[in-house]
Amino acid sequence: MREGIHPEYQQATVTCNCGNTFVTGSTNKSIHVEICSKCHPFYTGPQKATQARGRVDKFNKKYGMK
Ligand SMILES: [Zn+2]
Repeated sequence: MREGIHPEYQQATVTCNCGNTFVTGSTNKSIHVEICSKCHPFYTGPQKATQARGRVDKFNKKYGMK
C-alpha cells in the first residue's frame, strides 16, 4: 500500500452547537454537529429524537401542561 493515497485516520475535534467538544477518530480534522449526547440526553439518532419529542408533546397536551 503506497502512502498518500488513503486519507490519514486521525483525531478529530467535534464541536457541537451547545459548545461541547469531544475528540473522535475521523479523516477530517474538525467536525461540527448540531446536537450531541451532552445537550440531548436521550439522543440516539435524529429520527428517534424527533419521535421522543412528539411523545412529550402528546403527553403535555393530554395532561394540559405547558
Ligand atoms: Zn451538544
